[in-house]
Amino acid sequence: MKKVFIGLGSNLDDPLSQLKKAIEYLKQHEMLNVINISNFYSSPPMGPQDQPDFINAVVEIATSLSAEQLLDELQKIERQQGRERKQHWGARTLDLDILLYGNKVINTERLIVPHRGISERNFVLYPLNDLVEKNFRISGLGKINELLAACPMTGITRLSEV
Ligand code: ATP
Ligand code: MG
Ligand code: MG
Repeated sequence: MKKVFIGLGSNLDDPLSQLKKAIEYLKQHEMLNVINISNFYSSPPMGPQDQPDFINAVVEIATSLSAEQLLDELQKIERQQGRERKQHWGARTLDLDILLYGNKVINTERLIVPHRGISERNFVLYPLNDLVEKNFRISGLGKINELLAACPMTGITRLSEV
């Protein structure tokens, strides 16, 4: 069993419902055990600015699937929820990224883990921080405390009621 953190994001077709629906799929999947869910955050778009704000969250799961098998399952869920890839970092109904897969480091054509955006993206780092201990360490990146200190919460808002 590996402990895995998945980053979720949506900015189309009722983003909050998209995230909740995706979390239901994860919960119902027989190969995945959802352990914990972060707060939800709203965040301004990255890249192209002519698109709606995002809702983001992080989910902690335990699974015996390999990282590649897990990516297949996540991409199935993205497709089920109408994900289309039109523009790099463009608007989407659902993005499911593998942030961490245990403390494994993966660098293949299909998969980079830890996810390349973790340290610069406050909309990933803050929800991830909701789920881990203070001294949590990310392979190759260092302690979460130090990453947070270098990545202000500017622009993102924690949603209180979801
Ligand atoms: P970003 O990865 O910068 O957040 P994105 O999520 O919009 O951008 P996608 O269009 O969802 O990018 O995915 C493009 C490709 O990224 C996928 O086909 C997948 O093979 C690859 N990829 C590499 N590492 C990961 C990862 N850790 N989690 C999910 N996809 C990954
Ligand atoms: Mg992404
Ligand atoms: Mg993605």
